[in-house]
Amino acid sequence: MELLKAMAADDYEQVIVMQNSATGLRGFIVIHDTNRGPAFGGVRIRAYANESEALEDGLRLARAMTYKAALAELPCGGGKAVIMEHAEMDRDEVFEAFGAVVESLRGRFFTARDVGIRDEDLAAIGRATSHVAIEPSAALGDVSEHTALGVWKGMRACLESAGIARPRVAVQGVGSVGMHLARILNREGAELILADADAGRAAGAAKELGARVSSPEEILFAECDVVSPCALGGVIHSEIVPRLRARIVCGCANNILATPEEGDALANRGILYAPDYLVNAGGLIRGVEFFLQGRSESRGSISKIYQRMKRVMELARERGISTARAADELAEQRWKRPAERPKKFRELPWSAPAWRKPAEPETGRLAQAGRFFRPPREQLIKQ
Ligand code: NAD
Repeated sequence: MELLKAMAADDYEQVIVMQNSATGLRGFIVIHDTNRGPAFGGVRIRAYANESEALEDGLRLARAMTYKAALAELPCGGGKAVIMEHAEMDRDEVFEAFGAVVESLRGRFFTARDVGIRDEDLAAIGRATSHVAIEPSAALGDVSEHTALGVWKGMRACLESAGIARPRVAVQGVGSVGMHLARILNREGAELILADADAGRAAGAAKELGARVSSPEEILFAECDVVSPCALGGVIHSEIVPRLRARIVCGCANNILATPEEGDALANRGILYAPDYLVNAGGLIRGVEFFLQGRSESRGSISKIYQRMKRVMELARERGISTARAADELAEQRWKRPAERPKKFRELPWSAPAWRKPAEPETGRLAQAGRFFRPPREQLIKQ
């Protein structure tokens, strides 16, 4: 991949390459856009086949975060961190080293849990930076649970529009978010079919919720009302769309569609697609409201995903386009328009005016920001 060309094509701001031989840290932090505020994005760890695969994943995911933030009208931009899992790494030290890189960005990038991340990884990151959503945390709450709540709000808007009262939902992946979503759906009276690459996890979830288990391969083709991809992205691709039997696709996973064309293909088949970055914004909303606005509760803001989903369906109908394209249009209108930023971030040195005009480099804000900066962490009270 020609990195700079790829970055220019979608106007990425920065890619930070992380390599640390002592710990085995190998990976990237991708910052897509900080026009509206600092970049927020989870950290993911996977056994990527090679560094191009990891970088491509990071680039795609960071851009989607910008769209997610814009559509949710949040004062932040999009970023993502991807770490390559390999046999020689010391996991605890890798995450602490990664935290040190995050810290060096002085609030330009905030991170949280994504695929493959365990509680102890978050704790290790938290030893080096406070720009991480450490879970469990009494003050912050469970980010994945907030994500699942938002997905449910979006799914409810879809179900109402399709006139489905008691849905059958097929959930692919019952990890952090998928399991929370399955529990909410169970409480709301849905009939559940579950699958996970980890057969034991699927069996445990099914036992807890009285659900049926399907295989990870077959779950997408289950006879049901809603297919809910809650594992990895790219699962809805050209060979899958014709075989779907559900009327709605609505899940927690990021980048569910392999390409934007799948959004059109779903619409052509009359399958309602809930744009992933619209419905799975609950965790981001919680993180931004906690870190930037100091709010103790975000459920009200997350509930607005219901109205946003309705607005996107309306726009898609009015314009005769897919819901995927309608969401992209709304997000693109917003992400180039700077949001009202909290003052402390506007003043940090990444902002263009500070780069261009270092008025008093010896004694001014730039010089201060150059020192090791450790923001207060008393709000992050571990349970
Ligand atoms: P996780 O690692 O906790 O869970 C993923 C689960 O999917 C695991 O149980 C894994 O075994 C399973 N899985 C993997 N491949 C599968 C397959 N082919 N079929 C069935 N199951 C499979 O990750 P998570 O935090 O729950 O994230 C899941 C998805 O949701 C990711 O795409 C992530 O980017 C997205 N997401 C998560 C959050 C959040 O708050 N955690 C927020 C927004 C989006």
